This record gives sequence, C-alpha cells and structure tokens, in this order.
Amino acid sequence: MGKGGSRSGAGRPGQHVKAEHCLRFDVRALARQKLLNGAYFTWQWTSGRTGEPVGSISVATTAGGLHLRYSHNGDPKTDFVATMATPCTYGGSRAWFCCPLCARRVAVLYMVRGRFMCRNCGNLTYASKSDDAIGRAWRLQWKLEGRLDKGGRRPKGMHHRTYRQLQRAIMLCEAQRDDALVQAFGRMFGGRHLDKVLL
Ligand SMILES: [Zn+2]
Repeated sequence: MGKGGSRSGAGRPGQHVKAEHCLRFDVRALARQKLLNGAYFTWQWTSGRTGEPVGSISVATTAGGLHLRYSHNGDPKTDFVATMATPCTYGGSRAWFCCPLCARRVAVLYMVRGRFMCRNCGNLTYASKSDDAIGRAWRLQWKLEGRLDKGGRRPKGMHHRTYRQLQRAIMLCEAQRDDALVQAFGRMFGGRHLDKVLL
C-alpha cells in the first residue's frame, strides 16, 4: 500500500490491506477501562509516530452492544456492534464483539472501507506474518481448523467436548496473534477514550 492512502479507507475490494494500517477497536481495552455496559465516550486514535489524532468516533454502550457515530471521508455514519460475554474457567467473564458482517465472535474489529469488521471480513493480512509468535499461532490454528469440517463445523462423530476444546484453542490462537501484533507495533493505532460519561 502506498503511503498516501487514507488509513481508514485504505484498500479497494479484493486488495489485501495490512491490519497494522487500520484503525482498530479492541474489546479488551474497552472492558479494562469499564466502558462496556453503559457509557458514552469519544474514542480517539493517534498516530504512534507523530502523536497526531488520526480518527475518532462517538460511542454509546448498552448491555447489548455499542452504538457508533463517526464520519468517513466526510460522510456521517452510524453502526451497531453487538457484544457478548463468555464465562472464564476461573470465574468472571470475557467480553467479545460480534462482527457486524459475519457475526463471528472476535476481540478486535478493524475499520475497513468505512465500516468496522473482523479481520476475515476485511480480508486483512499482517505485515509481520513472519513474526515468530504470529507464525506459530497461525500454524497451530491451521492444524486445529484442519480437524473441523468446512466452515468450522463439528465433524460427525466428534465429541461435543472435543469440539468445544478445539474451538477454544482456535480462539486462543487468534487472541495470541492479536497480542503479538500489539506488542510488535506498540500502540500504533490502539486508541484511547476521551470524555467518558457513565450512563
Ligand atoms: Zn466478520
């Protein structure tokens, strides 16, 4: 990708966009800052290089998800991202986004062509695929996914328990890749909230 492209609108359909070049929204950052379930705030992204703001959105969160208001190339946009929680093994729960396009459970959404979506829907690749941790997580994930039927469905004859374990392991791979990415690229487009108001 050329350096001149608009970051939020980077890439045309069919063209691979690097995840590192997209504004990203991490449900774990929102959960850590207690911004889920009833808050109104502006989320702002800044360039890790220059510190300049590169984008912002208004977010109102309810128990069911996030109402987003932002502009893309001058056009006002609204969107809704559902959230859900899964119980953790040792108590508490973990928050997830449901991708607005495919309803997949994901930790990170990316702004691609003016909409928030998961890495799969955005057809995103990592610039750092060769990075060890990311490469390892990919290879393990492919191996695990190879044990499932098309579309990640449970093969006939596989125990439900085994299937659930495989699904969990695959999600862990995805989380590890996201973590490795954050470490590799620092807080490039991690973003932070401004003006938090609890509803
Ligand atoms: Zn998706």
